Parts: sequence; structure tokens; C-alpha cells
Amino acid sequence: MSHSVIQANQELLMKAANYYKSSAAAKTPPGAVFSAKIEGCTITGYKSGKILFQGKHAETEAQRWGSAPAESKPKSAAKTVNGFAPPPNIASLSAIGSDEVGTGDFFGPITVVAAYVSKENIPLIKEMGARDSKGLKDPQIIEIAKNLIHAVPYSLLVLKNEKYNELQKKGMTQGKMKAWLHNQAIRHLLDKIHPEEPEAILIDQFVDPNIYYSHLKGQTFSKKNTYFSTKAEGIHLAVAAASIIARYSFVKEFDKLSKKAGMTLPKGAGKQVDEAAAKLILKNGEQDLGQYTKSHFANTEKALAIASRKRH
Ligand code: MG
Repeated sequence: MSHSVIQANQELLMKAANYYKSSAAAKTPPGAVFSAKIEGCTITGYKSGKILFQGKHAETEAQRWGSAPAESKPKSAAKTVNGFAPPPNIASLSAIGSDEVGTGDFFGPITVVAAYVSKENIPLIKEMGARDSKGLKDPQIIEIAKNLIHAVPYSLLVLKNEKYNELQKKGMTQGKMKAWLHNQAIRHLLDKIHPEEPEAILIDQFVDPNIYYSHLKGQTFSKKNTYFSTKAEGIHLAVAAASIIARYSFVKEFDKLSKKAGMTLPKGAGKQVDEAAAKLILKNGEQDLGQYTKSHFANTEKALAIASRKRH
């Protein structure tokens, strides 16, 4: 396991503690001020000012803090690894955040939202309960979203199933669709808030940033102050807000779809989904399924097999 150590002053140590707060471990080792675990890296900050990074992303994560890691690398190499990571003070900046919902669900669309939270608005948005929505149930998300949509400028895009399937059949990957949607939502929102400009744009990372930009070839886009991070909803409230509004919109679209189907459609892509899709095939016919689903998912084949078994 690789590791990296940096020596921080008190201010940087506190900054780091605050930055990793949302991923804090329940217990800190003796002598430590904080301990946190993120994907591919455990971070421990000590009273001495030493910050220890352990795990596969240790070096990249250490470089976020600008100090030379234990095994120092040429500066240019560090930049290519780390050029997309948000600055340590990101949480306090006026930022646009973007996130998507529905990519793993067989039924229903993909919803993508970019939301803008200015630094003046941060306390209010916090007050409204915007936070990492992974721990929230749909009814809570809906409640919070209903307030957020009046307090936060945002741009929402819904990629309905027919359009999704059409693009997919033309050979477009889901990753490329997401890149286009994120980029469009951000561009719409930049227009909407103009002449105000965000200090940062934070995209909840779903693909390597270099691949993200290669997906956008031929599109209008800007890389200015644009950062990527996984679990970005824990890094800036704008992503948390975007994520909640995207979920809210997904749930609404999903309910409409259930009504249209005349049955309650399940979320996800598990066995229940196969069963429900089979029921829908038996009810409305195979050719109708594409209006409700992401056709290329393996669920289609499974549902067809179940439906044909039930017919015979
Ligand atoms: Mg996301």
C-alpha cells in the first residue's frame, strides 16, 4: 500500500480536517486530530502537523494540499494527475455543482441538474437541509427539494427513455450522454446567472476528467475553474443541491411513468425490475417497453425470457 506524508502548519491542518469532515472516521488514532476515509485513501492528521495519506490514491490526495510528497515527483507530472481536483477552500466559494440520477435504473429517465450556490447563500441552503442525499429517503428529498428550487438558480435536463434508446442505438455510450448533459446543464445555468460568475464549477465525477472532455469534442464547453471529484455532494453544497433536485425530478418523472404504465414500476435494475418489465410486456406488448426503459440493459433479455415462460 502506498503512502505519503506532508508537514502542514496549524492552518492547513485545520483546513484539511474541515475538508474531510464529511468522510470522518468514528475514531481517531492516538495523537491524531482527525481521521477520514475516502475512496482509495485514508487520511490522518496529527497534532504535530503531519498528515498521513494511505492507500492507492495517497499521492494524488497528498498533492491536493500543495506540499511536496515524501517521494517527490516532477511538478509537471503532478499537474496532469491533479489538475482537476478542487482547491482546498472549495466549500466556501460561490460554485455551480452538477450531478445526475437514474443512470443505473432500468426504468425511467436520466435527470441531470446543475445548481448555483453563491457564498452568501451557503448558510441558507444549509439551513434548508441540503446535504449528501445518500442518507435521505425520497419523501425527505422531495420536501427539501421543494424549498431548494425556489432558493437556488438551477438548470434541469431530463433525458427520456425514447431519446436515450435512440442515442444508444446510434452508438453513443451512457458516459458520453452524461458528459453532454452535464455540460449543457452547466452552460444553461451560466447563461441564467450571467453576469454573475461562479468561482468554481464542481462536477460529481462519473468518469475520468480527460475522458469527460474527450466526450465533449465538437461541443461548446469551457474548462475555466472546473473541477471534478467523486462524492462531490460532500464537498460543496451546490452539488448536494443539484443532487437533491435531480432526485426530486427523477422521482416525479418516475411517478408519471408508473401512471402511464398502469402499474408501480420498481427502481434499480434487480430481479423485481425483471418481473415488473415482464408484466409490462405481457400487458402492453414487447414493442412498448422502450418508452419506459433503458433498452440495452440486460434486464430486457431477462424480462423477455420471463414473459415468454409465463405465456407458455
Ligand atoms: Mg453523481
